[in-house]
Amino acid sequence: MTQLPLRAQLASALGRSAATLSRMTGRGDGSVIGGRVGLLLEPDLLRQLARDRKLALVSATNGKTTTTRLITSALLELGEVATNAFGANMPAGHVSALSQHKRAPYGVLEVDEKYLPEVLATTGAGVVCLMNLSRDQMDRAAEIWLLAQKWRKALSGKPTHVIANCDDPLVTWGASTAAKVTWVSGGQRWKEDSWCCPECGGPLDRKDADWACRECTFHRPEPQWVVDGDAAIDPRGQRWLLDIQLPGQANRSNAVMALAVAETFGVPVERALPRLREVTSVAGRYTTVERDGRHARLLLAKNPAGWLEAFDVADPQLPIILSVNAQGPDGRDTSWLWDVDYRILRGRPVFVTGERRLDLALRLDVADVPFTLCGTFMEALAMQPPGRVDVIANYTAFQQIRSEFGRAV
Ligand SMILES: [Zn+2]
Repeated sequence: MTQLPLRAQLASALGRSAATLSRMTGRGDGSVIGGRVGLLLEPDLLRQLARDRKLALVSATNGKTTTTRLITSALLELGEVATNAFGANMPAGHVSALSQHKRAPYGVLEVDEKYLPEVLATTGAGVVCLMNLSRDQMDRAAEIWLLAQKWRKALSGKPTHVIANCDDPLVTWGASTAAKVTWVSGGQRWKEDSWCCPECGGPLDRKDADWACRECTFHRPEPQWVVDGDAAIDPRGQRWLLDIQLPGQANRSNAVMALAVAETFGVPVERALPRLREVTSVAGRYTTVERDGRHARLLLAKNPAGWLEAFDVADPQLPIILSVNAQGPDGRDTSWLWDVDYRILRGRPVFVTGERRLDLALRLDVADVPFTLCGTFMEALAMQPPGRVDVIANYTAFQQIRSEFGRAV
């Protein structure tokens, strides 16, 4: 690997010091502040740090942190991998990740959907993995079509190899200008944002996983990889039992995306799959925390699609605690609560907490789901009998719970 120019070396080193200082003073993991300091001193730092490395960028509304982690695990078969493991998914986080692993020949970067064009242009990444696009909050509903359009522009005319989920029409449209695409049938649980053709606005006809526009030629491409229950079918038609530890159908889909990406890096399924099976939790997601004999499993759900995935994972035999906030990263508007069908929770003991518990309580009441209102998460946990309980929380509610248990990983 060629040496970084002196200015970039200095910027990178000072950024790392700032990150260390930030960690020592308890201001978080430091990856954002470190990257910001580096970029301030050398605006071209990300490009320079990315040079001479083989990079994969991972973007989606849901599952990008987990998939980034899975791909990273698989690529460890090849050598050292730089990655933004804490979900700091904008350029400052990428700078920090790459400068912390200066000599890593590989990098896997989770990228915020909006930053994908910029990060792709800057890093010249050879591989991009695109999984799903749905709205995060009501106030961002109109943005996702524009986002997909920006992806199209960003990918057009570049040699990038895209791995994309062809079950999501908007992702398919966003990816289809790329020179080379490997299509994965990864499933699409949340369909409410894709009833219209992104190409012409006509209605999309759907039959099982297949879809096609009624009015133009836009249709689902033939997938090379398929997620089939607990198995992956590879491009040669061979079936692989996934048997991963991360729960739920969404994670099986993430795993198959990771296998497809790993193969483009030259890691075959038989070497990648054992690595994926080693992953048990990702930045606190799926972790079980314990207090006084109550074992709470933490599920993160940031948007309606995420809630459906969490319902798929949650054990119907167990009580469930739901916690909703509406701070900055959550979005101030909680009207998306009305998009989620909560009737699946009927018959389970349901406990509701978080700053916006009254909003959620009203929603559950309308859906005829009985619940108990709790002042705090700890109060809700203390009301459980000893044993297991599932917890679904949105972003800041999830981080609050994690910090009560010492940043559970
Ligand atoms: Zn159409």
